[in-house]
Amino acid sequence: MLDVMKIRQDFPMLNGTKMHGQPLIYFDNGATTLKPQCVIDAVCDYLTNYSGNAHRGDYDLSHDVDTQFEKTRKLVAQLINCDHHEVVYTYGSTDSLNLVAFGYGMTHLNKDDEILLTVAEHASNTLPWFEVCDTIGSVVKYIDLNEEGAVTLENVAKAITDKTKIISIAQVSNVLGFNAPIKEICKLAHEKGIIVCVDGAQSIPHQKVDVKDLDVDFLVFSGHKMCGSTGVGILYGKYNLLQETKPTRWGGGSNSRYKSCGLVKLKTAPAKFEAGTPNIEGVIGLGAAIEYLMAIGMDNIHQYELKLRQYAVEKLLELDNIEVYNPNSHGAIAFNIKGVFSQDGASLFNTHGIAIRAGQHCAKILDEFLGISQTLRASFYFYNTFEEIDKFIEVCKKGDDFLD
Ligand code: PLP
Repeated sequence: MLDVMKIRQDFPMLNGTKMHGQPLIYFDNGATTLKPQCVIDAVCDYLTNYSGNAHRGDYDLSHDVDTQFEKTRKLVAQLINCDHHEVVYTYGSTDSLNLVAFGYGMTHLNKDDEILLTVAEHASNTLPWFEVCDTIGSVVKYIDLNEEGAVTLENVAKAITDKTKIISIAQVSNVLGFNAPIKEICKLAHEKGIIVCVDGAQSIPHQKVDVKDLDVDFLVFSGHKMCGSTGVGILYGKYNLLQETKPTRWGGGSNSRYKSCGLVKLKTAPAKFEAGTPNIEGVIGLGAAIEYLMAIGMDNIHQYELKLRQYAVEKLLELDNIEVYNPNSHGAIAFNIKGVFSQDGASLFNTHGIAIRAGQHCAKILDEFLGISQTLRASFYFYNTFEEIDKFIEVCKKGDDFLD
C-alpha cells in the first residue's frame, strides 16, 4: 500500500499552497496534476546546467541532452511495454490524436469509410476526425453507450459495419470514468481488419497499461496529467503503422536529406514525426515523472484511487441534495448539487479551497447521452486523502445555501 503522507511531502503545492485562504484541496486531476519536486528538479537541472538542443550537436553538452532526452523514450517504453522506437514525442494527447487522424486516417481512409467514436469522447478525439471526414468524405459513427454510460463490447460489435476502418475511443472517459474493454475491442476489431486508436489521457496516469497485451494499434497520452509538465505528450504506434503514418509537421530533425527539386528522404519513426526543436525540458520532466510513478507502482496507485473514489461516492450518495451520474465507474465523479448551476457549485468549493471542475469538460456532445448540459467533476490522484474527501463532503452539504 502507498504511504500517502510521505508522498504528499514530495508535492510543494500540497505543503503550503492556499486557495481562497484555505489549504488547497486539489480535485481537478483530470485537467492536470500537481508536480512532485523530482520533476521540478529535473526540469530545473536541464534549464540550469545543460540547456542545449537535442540531436543537433557534436559536443559533450549536447550528448548529455541526447542521453536524458532518449532516456525518457525508454522509460515510456517500459511503462507501457513497447519498443522505444514505437514512442513518438508530441505536444500532448491532442497533438497525438491529430497526428493519428491526419497522418494515418487521412492517408488510409476513403470516401464513405466509417470511423467509430462515442459521444463521451473528449473534443480532441472528435474534432480531428470530423475534419478528416469533411475533407475526404468518410463518416463518423457512434458506438452506443450502455445505460450507465460505459462502452461495452456488445455495443462495439453492433456498431461495426463492413465500412468501419478505425475505432478511436478513450480507455477511460474524462467525465464518466468507465474503463472500456480495450483488449476485447482490439481482438474483435483486428478480426475485421479495423485499426484501434486508444485515447489514454485518463488511463495511463492511473493504472498499468500494457499495449502489447491489449494489442492496441495507437495509444496517446499527456505528460501533464501524470505529474509531468505541460506541452509534452506521447503517441505510441505499432512500428509498421508508424512507418505507414505521414508526418503532420515537416522541418529540421525529421529528415536525413532533401534536394532543391523537392525530394525529401525522411528518417524512420519516431524521428520522422519530431520536426523542430522539441519540448526538451518537458520530455526530461516526463522521464522523472515516470520514474516517480513506477517507484510507487501503477497498481498501488490504481488500487488506492479506487478506494478513494468508492469512499467519496458512498458519502455523496448519502446526500439528498447531490446527484451522482456515474456511481459505478472507476475514474472521475460526475455530479451536481441539485438545482445549482455547476459553475456556481465550483465557486462554492473554491471558497473552501477545493479545486473541482464545472461545465462540459471538453466533451460537448455527451449531453446528448446524459440529458444535462453541465456537471461538476471531482477527479482524484494518489496524493489525495480520505480527510480531504470528508472536507469536500461537508461543502457538498452546504450546497443548499444557494437555494435559500
Ligand atoms: N483526451 C482526454 C480523455 C482528456 O481528458 C484530455 C484532456 O483533458 C485530452 C484528450 C486532451 O489532452 P491535452 O489537452 O493534454 O492534449
